Amino acid sequence: MSETHRIINFNAGPAGLPRPALERARDELLDFDGTGISVMEHSHRGEAYGRVHDEAEALVRELAGVPDSHAVLFLQGGASQAFATVPMNFLHAGRRADYAVSGGWGEKALAEARTVGDARDVLGLDREWTRIPAEHPDGDGAAYLHITSNNTLEGTQYHRWPDAKAPLVADMSSDILSRPLDVPRFSLIYAGAQKNLGPSGVTLVIVDRAWIATARTDIPKIFRFATHAAERSLYNTPPTFGIYLLRNVLAWTRDQGGAPAMEARNRAKAALVYAAIDAAPDYYRCPAAPGSRSWMNVVFRLPTEALDARFVAAAKAQGMIGLKGHRSTGGVRASLYNAVSVDDARALADFMNDFAKREG
Ligand code: PMP
Repeated sequence: MSETHRIINFNAGPAGLPRPALERARDELLDFDGTGISVMEHSHRGEAYGRVHDEAEALVRELAGVPDSHAVLFLQGGASQAFATVPMNFLHAGRRADYAVSGGWGEKALAEARTVGDARDVLGLDREWTRIPAEHPDGDGAAYLHITSNNTLEGTQYHRWPDAKAPLVADMSSDILSRPLDVPRFSLIYAGAQKNLGPSGVTLVIVDRAWIATARTDIPKIFRFATHAAERSLYNTPPTFGIYLLRNVLAWTRDQGGAPAMEARNRAKAALVYAAIDAAPDYYRCPAAPGSRSWMNVVFRLPTEALDARFVAAAKAQGMIGLKGHRSTGGVRASLYNAVSVDDARALADFMNDFAKREG
């Protein structure tokens, strides 16, 4: 496809992938590494796939700065399965888990924890969820404190980590590797791959090995993080092709300069789109409180639902897709994950400025 007709993908997830990662997959599809067969057709216990598996783990360790104290796991079931497996492993009978619910996904995580044991929302925000509170509960006495680092639906994000007294657990599905990460601060991080890391079907988990040693053993083996850590995610057949593509995406991320380069790009992209909002604040209404605005998901509404729809359709006619807000929130959402370039964000900002002038 020529540059002038390219599609700019603002999908919220599965999201756009870096083109070089896809081209590499295309080039290697029928003959992986001179083996004469596709990577999908290799045994997960064979040498050829083994190298991919090792490289994927090494790239996560390098890019996210994961120390040896923490295991890197490639699992299945999405972040939604982790909503269940985190309490299954760590919410011991007689203990309580604290959930800092700052959006709809955090609410779902809490609901799953409640099927396991005593779990409570310690923020008590109203259901508009427009901010991350500056005064943050520390989870003192809890089995763990759970946060959602970026609220994909509401367009808010943590820009400072809470000082936690309990083991800190984070759902980082929609902002992992968007910026440098202080892994030792966290006992467990989980993220569906389909935004910043690769295709759907792989869930990345980074978990403190010492904490795993304290986990419950009265649950099925397949749901124990300990099982997967002991077997380096090869206890059963992992999603090999998804992990292969994740490897390609992370190799691209490293080539771009890693997490610091992603942060610089993501800051620049978000600044462009929020500037377009702030230039027409009566026309583009952004519910997210200024200090809590997400760099990953920029959420806004036009004065009417009809205008929201017109905006999304007009953008699509110009090759910009994926801007329709989530079915639960409506409005417009521009997801600016790592694979979205600064030029892509500029194209959207220019379109927003023109649209507000023309239609506003
Ligand atoms: N948490 C967050 C923050 C998300 O954005 C999503 C998906 N958009 C989920 C959890 C659910 O992820 P999955 O579909 O991988 O289960």
